Amino acid sequence: MAERNRRINLHYGRLQEGDLNYGLSVTCYACSAPHKASGLVRIEYGPDTTDAPLCDLCLSQEGPRADKTARTILRRYFNSPDFEIPIEAEH
Ligand SMILES: [Zn+2]
Repeated sequence: MAERNRRINLHYGRLQEGDLNYGLSVTCYACSAPHKASGLVRIEYGPDTTDAPLCDLCLSQEGPRADKTARTILRRYFNSPDFEIPIEAEH
């Protein structure tokens, strides 16, 4: 079951002003709020890397709220509302 050993990592970051995507109209990957792109989350799952936009509110959360946001992101990523995994987020 190699699948089970694939690590999932979330990395949070911000676009720099001048970045190609900075200020684009996007919807937050976690809460679906429309906003101008500035924050993002990079989802690394095995060899796959996915970048998704995050609003400032979701990006700035800490502690349990950040874990909740991470779960929302992963549920969306895996398209599974029941997805439960231990969170190892790097901020
Ligand atoms: Zn959000």
